[in-house]
Amino acid sequence: MALIVQKFGGTSVGNPEKIKNVASRVLGKKNEGNQMVVVLSAMSGETNRLTEFAMAMQKIPDTREMDVLLSSGEQVTISLFAMAVKAMGDDCISLLGDQVKIVTDSSHTKARIESIDTEKITASLDEGKVVVVAGFQGVDEHGNITTLGRGGSDTTAVALAAALNADACEIFTDVEGVYTTDPNMCNTARKIDRISYDEMLELASLGAKVLDIRSVTFAKQYNVPIHVRSTFTDTEGTWVVEEDKEMEGRIVSGVTYNRNEARITISGVPDQPGIATKIFTPISNADIIVDMIIQNQNTGEGTTDMTFTVLRSDYERTVKLLDSVVESTGATGGVQGSETITKISIVGVGMRNHSGIASTMFSVLANEGINISMISTSEIKVSCIIEEKYTELAVRALHDAFELGKDYVAVEETLV
Ligand code: ASP
Ligand code: MG
Repeated sequence: MALIVQKFGGTSVGNPEKIKNVASRVLGKKNEGNQMVVVLSAMSGETNRLTEFAMAMQKIPDTREMDVLLSSGEQVTISLFAMAVKAMGDDCISLLGDQVKIVTDSSHTKARIESIDTEKITASLDEGKVVVVAGFQGVDEHGNITTLGRGGSDTTAVALAAALNADACEIFTDVEGVYTTDPNMCNTARKIDRISYDEMLELASLGAKVLDIRSVTFAKQYNVPIHVRSTFTDTEGTWVVEEDKEMEGRIVSGVTYNRNEARITISGVPDQPGIATKIFTPISNADIIVDMIIQNQNTGEGTTDMTFTVLRSDYERTVKLLDSVVESTGATGGVQGSETITKISIVGVGMRNHSGIASTMFSVLANEGINISMISTSEIKVSCIIEEKYTELAVRALHDAFELGKDYVAVEETLV
């Protein structure tokens, strides 16, 4: 008998009819002889709706009360699910985070799971019940309700799978899995069968929205294989697993883009020790996250230009902050920037042992007449900042050039 954790997202439980469908899907799996633990999100749109209510009460809602409020969305879906299962003649128990005991730290609205007590779940499974657990919530050591941050139900599922030593953790969503790129942008995008944790982490942080990034970190840490798949079909989705030999042969696994960033340059800054800290300390003190940074020396002039990216929503704030930096450093070129940029990236563990990947990317973009304004690389990723209007063209050209639309066939490498 296998123990399976299945998580269903907001669109999968968006109304009572859909909750019934999920219940019968879960029972189908149970009737094959498995023990079932189910994690549910709130109905789609519900967490946003509750957030709006909160904002109508307090400009910056109290975070403890916010958690009491937001955790109610999942309370609704799990209780309805349990009723649906009972109506189908089977048995089920719903459990809130503090009933399971999913213990978290006390960082309201962005709590981290510290431990999970599996006793109650295991006892209920042994009684033959389906156990349905509220996603995204826990309780701190003082008994306060906490939530894990938006999208946190994926993490609940992976954490439960790890704690219960489950045989599988399946994340059901409204797409069929993880794709080589955004299918809305490129019609040759293909579902990936297997992808490594590290690649998924890069894809998730770069803009792919299928899985919440914290859940992948958790899965990697505890080696929980995740199966991301569609609620609305029976087809196999994407397995997110430990890296293996076959994956290394595949040079690029996916192309991704992120339009949430903006680019800022402060130029003509006197090139002296301490200049970077003068620029970036006020920014970090304002809790603004900086992503890429490039420093360019203007040889002969004794000055330097600093270009970096921040979240687009932080753009105005950052430019304002830099006014006083321009004054205090005497930067002659002032501050310029652009809010209409895209970060486009290629990701693949195969990059670790293949060369020339970045240069292929640059030449593909050049052939399309697309200018690159910034470049950054990691062991398994190359990212370029380009003008936003070229996003679609760049995605398609790169997807084509790395042949991501074709089925991957592993070729044995012969060492001579
Ligand atoms: N309901 C929460 C949200 O919408 C958690 C989740 O669905 O994962 O962010
Ligand atoms: Mg989600």
